[in-house]
Amino acid sequence: MATSTLPETEIEKTEQKSATKYVYFFGGGKADGNGKMKDELGGKGAGLAEMTNAGLPVPPGFTIQTDACREYMRHNSVSKEVDRQMEEALAHLEKVQAQKLGKGENPLLVSVRSGAKFSMPGMMDTILNLGLNDESVESLAKLSNNPRFAYDSYRRLIQMFGNVVLEIPKPDFDEVFDAKKKQKKAKLDTDLNAAALKEVIAEYKKVVKKHTKKDFPQDPHEQLVMARDAVFRSWQNDRAKHYRRINNISDDLGTAVNVQAMVFGNLGETSGTGVGFTRNPATGVKEFYGEFLLNAQGEDVVSGVRTPVHILELEKIMPEVYNQLREITTRLEKHYRDMQDFEFTIQDGRLYMLQTRNGKRTGLAAVKVAIQMVEEGLITKEEAIFRVEPNQLYDFLVPRLDEKSVKVEVLATGLPASPGAAVGQIVFTADEAVEKAGHGAKKNPVILVRAETTPEDIHGMEVAVGILTSRGGMTSHAAVVTRGMGKCCVAGAGDIEVIEKTREMRVKGQVFKAGDWISLDGTTGRVIKGKLSSLPPKADDPELNKIMSWAEPFRKLRVRANADIPRDAIQARAFGAEGIGLCRTEHMFFGEEKLPHMRAMILASTEKERRAALKKLLPLQRKDFVGVFRAMDGFPVTIRTLDPPLHEFLPRREDLMVEIAVLEATKPKAPKLKDLRTLLRRVEELHEFNPMLGHRGCRLGITYPEITEMQARAIFEAAVAVSKEGVKVFPEVMIPLTATLKEMANQAAIVNRVAEEVFKEKEHKVEYLVGTMIELPRAALVADEIAKEAQFFSFGTNDLTQTTFGFSRDDVNKVLPTYLAEGILKQDPFAVLDREGVGQLIRMATERGRKTRPNLKVGICGEHGGEPSSVEFCHQVGLNYVSCSPFRVLTARLAAAQAAASDKLKVEGGRTK
Ligand code: PEP
Ligand code: MG
Repeated sequence: MATSTLPETEIEKTEQKSATKYVYFFGGGKADGNGKMKDELGGKGAGLAEMTNAGLPVPPGFTIQTDACREYMRHNSVSKEVDRQMEEALAHLEKVQAQKLGKGENPLLVSVRSGAKFSMPGMMDTILNLGLNDESVESLAKLSNNPRFAYDSYRRLIQMFGNVVLEIPKPDFDEVFDAKKKQKKAKLDTDLNAAALKEVIAEYKKVVKKHTKKDFPQDPHEQLVMARDAVFRSWQNDRAKHYRRINNISDDLGTAVNVQAMVFGNLGETSGTGVGFTRNPATGVKEFYGEFLLNAQGEDVVSGVRTPVHILELEKIMPEVYNQLREITTRLEKHYRDMQDFEFTIQDGRLYMLQTRNGKRTGLAAVKVAIQMVEEGLITKEEAIFRVEPNQLYDFLVPRLDEKSVKVEVLATGLPASPGAAVGQIVFTADEAVEKAGHGAKKNPVILVRAETTPEDIHGMEVAVGILTSRGGMTSHAAVVTRGMGKCCVAGAGDIEVIEKTREMRVKGQVFKAGDWISLDGTTGRVIKGKLSSLPPKADDPELNKIMSWAEPFRKLRVRANADIPRDAIQARAFGAEGIGLCRTEHMFFGEEKLPHMRAMILASTEKERRAALKKLLPLQRKDFVGVFRAMDGFPVTIRTLDPPLHEFLPRREDLMVEIAVLEATKPKAPKLKDLRTLLRRVEELHEFNPMLGHRGCRLGITYPEITEMQARAIFEAAVAVSKEGVKVFPEVMIPLTATLKEMANQAAIVNRVAEEVFKEKEHKVEYLVGTMIELPRAALVADEIAKEAQFFSFGTNDLTQTTFGFSRDDVNKVLPTYLAEGILKQDPFAVLDREGVGQLIRMATERGRKTRPNLKVGICGEHGGEPSSVEFCHQVGLNYVSCSPFRVLTARLAAAQAAASDKLKVEGGRTK
């Protein structure tokens, strides 16, 4: 029966839902939220709630949830309800603490911190000591009996608030501070006494007034509202946006804001602050790992401004606190069933936990920790396979320095912050890194050398091959961020002096300038003079094999490699490739011995001449195929007929013109001139305005059928020869860039005819297939037709993305950065498959193709074939295989296994992000 009224309970539920709970309190052993509420409370807020519920010593406070941030992004302000709930939570906090925000003899001070669902270290803003003003600073001075500490806290607040909330440039404050240090002949910040800090405060206030035309806000409630809104705004700052883009985090999530009673690590020698990991995040070894600083505030440790002390030292200084910390963090690890990354503060000998979260780690550590945790009974094998991000397997493939070839001069040894090797030219700023690193074919390896990195350096860190810092520990910004990027980093190399002003690095009495070469060993922390070469890594690590052996049984997709020459095919097999999904035969023609014949073939003006040149190419190409077939014994090898525009094999038009002009001026009678002029004429004839959409792909084989003929002959002669030796060969001849059935039929007819000819001549047959690449939207649309002739499909998603978007593969970088910055595109569609558009074509073409030919083999061989999210999509669509470059084979294998395992286990990959 239809009813127009809801039962009572339903009404209650609806009403509850409409009054959104924006603010979640934690403190006094109880929290409104819990550890599962990362969507609402962010990672930090959920962790604080969970730790509070577990009875751990957490300073009380409240979390304003991400909904409020999204509201702020939409309307540039939050609703009255958010303000109301915040005031209510503050009143509760004041009650629990028996203090008033910024008032009375014992004023309550709070920290205001960001905290999104996925950790974004240092990308957003934080304000400490909020609640201090001209009055409360005096109370704090009295209460702590430490006026220096009180004034220092106040000047830090004005500086942080001024910079983050009022958007006053940091150097304006630094100038005041440095001038005061100079005036008082103070070496260190801590050398400034209370009186000097009071003067700094007065000057800081002037800076605020100058910039904002208003006084520094004295009302603590006003401070809180302004700070909260600034943290919300920081979600949209450039570095946060950039970080989200490279880490594939949605812009729509928003951040939560955590307001928490301050505890002070800078109250003297019985106070301190630190960060740590329950296992070593670089190697995965089970050891208590971390760093701390006595008499310091939180940001001092993570920013890398002072080099901290190893956490084991804490046992000597404060054994009870140390034991309590060990006990708590061990419990946390068991509770979360994952390695924890925690932050703590000791105030006057009392320990407080400020944060816990699943720790970021290198690929090596991820594998080791996952295996340890299975052995310890903390997680299952199925869970373990999700504890490693497929891209992290690169770490097993990172190069090592080749130290045999040259004399190794170690300049300094820092911390092995992120493994691998990096060889590059020094740059001193992030902008310089971007400028010097270049892109495309003109890439230069650069190493970013900094005293310490800050979140502002992220764009430089992204393009650098390695990072070197002279300050900071294993948890410094540089270390954490590079580990996430899988990039080599040596941090805290204290013997090195980085002088940013003069752009110099001084070490061991030597001076290094921008452009000088150095080599880094991120696995041992060594900084080496000069340009060493690097050695390929080994992919047969026993622990890696173990994790793979747990993952692989789930995998449904086959994983092949894109390889053109026997050496790459051998490498691919070592990484577990199950065949070749794309052999780009044009790469075979680029070889020194082949290029002249290739040029002769292109320059030929008659078919006869062309055939003569092709005859020379035939044995050379056959030899390469023999090598590839042997390497892939037992597995299929997909060989693509010639694809690129012919002029790619000829010299550049501009270069020829210059050479001719020079010769005409210097040696006008040189016989070479005539040849050069002929060559130029042919180059000009072949010139195309849009070669990527021009005379390439099957269009070449159709206009010059003798090319396809020669290639088919080389393939089948090689196949027959190795088959006679006992090698199991399965050639799959692939026709590129088809758009119509007739194109496919035209080329298939040539291949089939040549196959029959060769089999007859050699009196030996091999099994083979003839198929096509789907690289054009039209081909996807008429896939059912094309499948009448094509025995397999392979999606060339590089071209399919190009032709679906209408973006030029080669020129897209003129547009892409703006598109990403504006959020018009979330990701580079040439890197991560565009499921919505290109993916739809893939799904449709697969379905249509299989309607015609139910057992149609379908794969993908564009760059996306080795990218985890694209591999997951290929699994979901039901492709037979993915094919990627040899170094991505491991990644693709794990990504394919995870995709199938999450289907089967109905789990959402419990990955750590
Ligand atoms: C493709 O287009 O995806 C492809 C694999 O071919 P190429 O990159 O050689 O054009
Ligand atoms: Mg292509």
